[in-house]
Amino acid sequence: MGLIQTLYAKRRKNSLILNPDYLDDEKLPEEERTAVLKEIFNRRIREPQLARIAQHLTPVLDGGHPPAALIYGPTGSGKTVSLLHLLSSFERVCAKRGMPFRYFYVDLTSPKTYFGALNEVALAMDGSGRRYRKGIPIGYMQERIVEIMNRYHGTLCLLIDEADNVRPNADALLTFLGKTLPRKVGCRLILIMLTNRLDWEKALDPRILSFLKKSDFIFEPYDALDLYEILKQRVEKALDERKVEEGALRRIAAYASRETGDARKAVELLVKAAKVAEDTTGKLAGEEVEVAAETLEVDKTGELIRALATQQKLSLIACYASLAKGRSKSSTGQVYAVYSQLCQTQEIKPLTQRRVSNMISFLDLYGLINAPVVSRGRYGQTREIAASLPKEVVDGLVHGDGKKAPREWRKSGSPDD
Ligand code: ADP
Ligand code: MG
Repeated sequence: MGLIQTLYAKRRKNSLILNPDYLDDEKLPEEERTAVLKEIFNRRIREPQLARIAQHLTPVLDGGHPPAALIYGPTGSGKTVSLLHLLSSFERVCAKRGMPFRYFYVDLTSPKTYFGALNEVALAMDGSGRRYRKGIPIGYMQERIVEIMNRYHGTLCLLIDEADNVRPNADALLTFLGKTLPRKVGCRLILIMLTNRLDWEKALDPRILSFLKKSDFIFEPYDALDLYEILKQRVEKALDERKVEEGALRRIAAYASRETGDARKAVELLVKAAKVAEDTTGKLAGEEVEVAAETLEVDKTGELIRALATQQKLSLIACYASLAKGRSKSSTGQVYAVYSQLCQTQEIKPLTQRRVSNMISFLDLYGLINAPVVSRGRYGQTREIAASLPKEVVDGLVHGDGKKAPREWRKSGSPDD
């Protein structure tokens, strides 16, 4: 009892996160998300883009019909939040002026088939939350969408998030939305498409581009200053400001901008650092950021390793077990020898050296090892296998002799051959 109370008191004293909702807007239902976004969205940074897209939409206020818009930008550059913010403001302005305007958010952030994408469109508009069953004919889904859309008049805007995420491609969806639908419905339809793929346009059928008559907008990745501003605003809303050092924020911003300028990653690191601070000193300074950055790295690699199939994991362990023998580099042959031994102790049927060699290039691709191909003159080519994981991860993986780890993944791992 005493221990729990002491821990609780310490936690209270160290508490830093005052409003967790403001730290993870993507987990919230759409309505709450829009409300939260109003508080945490730093519109100043995206002001030029917002102004240009707003300008594109203004004809709506005079009863005009702007064409489609395609918005490009790397992941975490604020496309989704900016457009949600802009369209909800625009909806309010239109309402004030008595111009009927509605927008709907179509979520294709996880890959969809054409049918699945139509399903999302219908779902976004009919508001019932009811999914359509698989096996319904596509023609019926299309009719449903026409029917739902005919309930609206004025201008209707579909915000299609990650519009490229349709398998095998988005041609059928865009043809339906951009060409068929406008002829069948009474309202005016505007398509706003978001994509992380800068080369998406090249993958589209040129006929689609010709009827969409779209305008393009680009979101550049955030730089360290942008990220710093975003983080600062976030701290004001979500954390106990007095316990956060400015230098810590600068460091987080520097980390994230050095990688890809992804604001999602910057916020993620802020949250992790705040948690580290709560568990230790109660203050968020440079050191807490360092610890958080390291743990994030370890967490992510751990996740990746847990997702490997049995033989992949075995190959990975063989690489590190081989390196643990005091070498700084191993050859495929050396790794294969360790691998065969491991298979024997685990009573698993070994793969051929060729297959293991393929596994090694796969592990290299995922950054779990470092294995560049080097030429050995007339002896052909080989891979020089070296470590790329932090020590904590390797220790957990190999556990001295590579005997302990295999037992647990034999239960959980799925055989892949
Ligand atoms: P994208 O759609 O370009 O991948 P998002 O718009 O989803 O990026 O942004 C990812 C996350 O980063 C958001 O959930 C939000 O937390 C944060 N974020 C991005 N831009 C901003 C901004 N300008 N102000 C505040 N937070 C932002
Ligand atoms: Mg997005």
